[in-house]
Amino acid sequence: MRILILGAGPAGMTTAQGLRELAPTRSLEPDITIISGEPFPPYSPPAMADHFLTGREQSLYWLGKDVCDRLGVDYRAGVDARTVDPDGRRVVLEDGAVLDYDKLVIATGSRLYAPIDGYDLPGVYNFKSLTAARDLVEHARRGEVRSALIVGAGFIGVEVALLLNSLGLDVTMIQRRWVMPRMLDPETAGLVLDELHRRGITVLENTEAIRFVGERRVTGVELGDGQTATADACVAATGVKPNIDYLEGSGLDVDWGVRVDNRLRTNLPDVWAAGDVAETFDRLTGERFVHAIWPNARAQGEVVARDMLGYAADYEGAERMNSMKHLGLPIMAVGEAEGERELRWRRGDLLRKIFLADGRIVGFRLAGDIRGAGTYRALLLRGADVSGFGEDLLDPRFGITRCVDLVNA
Ligand SMILES: Cc1cc2nc3c(=O)[nH]c(=O)nc-3n(C[C@H](O)[C@H](O)[C@H](O)COP(=O)(O)OP(=O)(O)OC[C@H]3O[C@@H](n4cnc5c(N)ncnc54)[C@H](O)[C@@H]3O)c2cc1C
Repeated sequence: MRILILGAGPAGMTTAQGLRELAPTRSLEPDITIISGEPFPPYSPPAMADHFLTGREQSLYWLGKDVCDRLGVDYRAGVDARTVDPDGRRVVLEDGAVLDYDKLVIATGSRLYAPIDGYDLPGVYNFKSLTAARDLVEHARRGEVRSALIVGAGFIGVEVALLLNSLGLDVTMIQRRWVMPRMLDPETAGLVLDELHRRGITVLENTEAIRFVGERRVTGVELGDGQTATADACVAATGVKPNIDYLEGSGLDVDWGVRVDNRLRTNLPDVWAAGDVAETFDRLTGERFVHAIWPNARAQGEVVARDMLGYAADYEGAERMNSMKHLGLPIMAVGEAEGERELRWRRGDLLRKIFLADGRIVGFRLAGDIRGAGTYRALLLRGADVSGFGEDLLDPRFGITRCVDLVNA
């Protein structure tokens, strides 16, 4: 059986790992080929910032540089898939190579989504891939870039700001609303903002970036009030979009991402999709979306491997979950950022917020002290009625002290 995996991120690599672990028990040793558009061993995007700061490679190449050899995978790096032909069961690569498959996994992740004019001007960088991030960091290290404007203060924007600030750049962020608006409520975001200010990063909140400006090279960003902010370089951190352009004409059912069922099968036979490229469903609400985070990509890769080998493999659904590592202030955000009722506790930079609806936890935000996160998440996923606990829920030791009550809940 020839299995072709497009993409070597956590979704594609977890699929390959799962196939190698599970296939022998089915008396199968499939031929596995993995294609990666980038010329590196499989790497972890969340580890890029740490890698650039410390030079360490262990967490960047999270499975080891030799993982494909160990898994017995034919790894072709530095070449994109150009077209998928499901009738002929073949994929054509950018270099003209034609690869036949029996089973295909689409795991090509996501790329920068920049709905703002001028994003393609030279000097506008992004941090969405190791190739793009290296480009930016190398310019900064060579001293060619001393100041940067970052459009977008979401999760990736804040990570880039912290990195560039640590590399000695003068950093300004431009953000339409408050920082990390998709992940944090305004109060928790305020703590992140304070930390950014403490490090000397300027954040222009409630500010619209109209376009990147410049003739042959970007010189700045035109703002909603008509002013233009200037810097040596600009970074677009305006969001991500599934990598699906090459699938055009393939007959795959595609909306924002590749649509899949609860076994992550696409509408075409023997074709699965997983990770940032796949449009799955929310574990709690059932709503269809692409929630581009690492744990979802890993979980989906596992489901694909199981389903391909004929094991029970219903996907439980994607979660909304994020943590902030490099800020110096631990932050954990899970589920909704509002509810019918809000439980809140704050002492300085320590903040705990739990959002409830119908007596159940629908989301929580923890800053400074993230103890209890595992308990809250478990209660949220179980849909447990926590109305009887009242403000006790806010106690960081809640899971320990009320363990018996919880088991019986
Ligand atoms: C800077 C940064 C920080 C992040 N931090 C966190 C974090 O702290 N926590 C968290 O949960 N998530 C984080 N994420 C998100 C997380 O990295 C992604 O959700 C995850 O990597 C998605 O995995 P994936 O396998 O779907 O795609 P990716 O990891 O994006 O891998 C996609 C692969 O497909 C390849 N590819 C693309 N197009 C083609 C093509 N046409 N042909 C062949 N190959 C192709 C790429 O080269 C790559 O190998 C972060 C992302 C970034 C960029």
